[in-house]
Amino acid sequence: MDIEHIRKDFPILNQQVNGKPLVYFDNAATTQKPLPVIQRITDYYLHENSNVHRGVHHLSLVATEAYEKARSFVANYINAEDSKEIIFTRGTTESVNLLATVLSPWIQAGDEIVISGMEHHSNLVPWQQLCERNKARLKVLPVDLDGTIDLNFLKKMLTPQVKLLAITHISNVLGTINPVKEIVRIAHEQGVPVLLDGAQGIAHAKVDVQDIGADFYAFSGHKIYAPMGIGILYGRFTWLRRLPPYQFGGEMIDKVSFEKTTFNELPYKYEAGTPNVAGALGLEAALRYVEEIGLDNIFDHEDKLLQYATKKLQDIEGMRIFGHAKDKAAVISFLINGVHPYDLGMLLDQMGIAVRTGHHCAEPLMDFYGIQGTVRSSFGMYNTMEEIDVFADAVEKAVQMLR
Ligand code: PMP
Repeated sequence: MDIEHIRKDFPILNQQVNGKPLVYFDNAATTQKPLPVIQRITDYYLHENSNVHRGVHHLSLVATEAYEKARSFVANYINAEDSKEIIFTRGTTESVNLLATVLSPWIQAGDEIVISGMEHHSNLVPWQQLCERNKARLKVLPVDLDGTIDLNFLKKMLTPQVKLLAITHISNVLGTINPVKEIVRIAHEQGVPVLLDGAQGIAHAKVDVQDIGADFYAFSGHKIYAPMGIGILYGRFTWLRRLPPYQFGGEMIDKVSFEKTTFNELPYKYEAGTPNVAGALGLEAALRYVEEIGLDNIFDHEDKLLQYATKKLQDIEGMRIFGHAKDKAAVISFLINGVHPYDLGMLLDQMGIAVRTGHHCAEPLMDFYGIQGTVRSSFGMYNTMEEIDVFADAVEKAVQMLR
């Protein structure tokens, strides 16, 4: 992989921050966008902009065709059986909320929903609120200290009361790549459907929804070099066909009278109102870009960055890294004895290095480790070994200053 060549596609990386070359290690929060993605959005607004599915005029047909082609591209990318199973949303958060809303009639008093202890708030709070409303119970599959889950424990938790398992593909804090295929197999043996939170999974793992077997898979475009404000809810046709609509309004209807409304077919039933067409086209461009570079090349490079950074950080006195799964994505959360993560993050920023500090929207996981937050460095395809050297030196320097 020619990183220098790739970096030319990401002009934002080529800038100084506080007088130092920017080192962008906050990719788990959002990735930067390559020129082909930016160009696709620009081209859309320069030449194709129109509302979709509504007009007989030229531009409307062009925009509609492009939008539906983007849907088909996403379907192929994650190997969905049918593009009707691809719902465009604003992102993972909206995808999960959509599902929590439409599954509500299926969740009765006394039912249970299982999540894991490493969930992002986006895949926790919607289920907790649904349980509260419907007098159901939220059960939490515990995380081990090394940041993994115990599949035997999962088996025991999947009692007949359980109506859904909602679990992350990859943890945004620990980097743990959960064995999702095995998880789905275990859940299905008990007749429990599975939602996978793929916000990180889409960027750091090969996602083949038919192979994994998940009933639902949610992700955000912006984690995989696509624009913000666009995401996907994949749902098996047999599920989505049965579930009620989410939001009501234009596009999602079949026939409307003052007395009664019937609803449109999939996927439009779940896309009320004007969608983010430019976002969908940007997502297609990002997935094409990733495919062109090659998923294996990207994952291989990210793994090298992860191994190298882990080794370098471990040499720093007082270092505590959270998440030691054998299968781990390029995310390192850490603390250093006697150093507040926020102070470290601020000093790193002064040296041009962007990392995330805080609870990473996973407060219960922080409680489990008895900490308030961590510093998190997370890598993308454009990061380099040299940047890791700069980062490790900067951490050492900052620690000396703070101690
Ligand atoms: N789940 C995980 C694992 C995440 O990392 C994130 C984003 N940090 C989300 C859910 C929420 O994604 P979004 O904010 O794009 O909706």
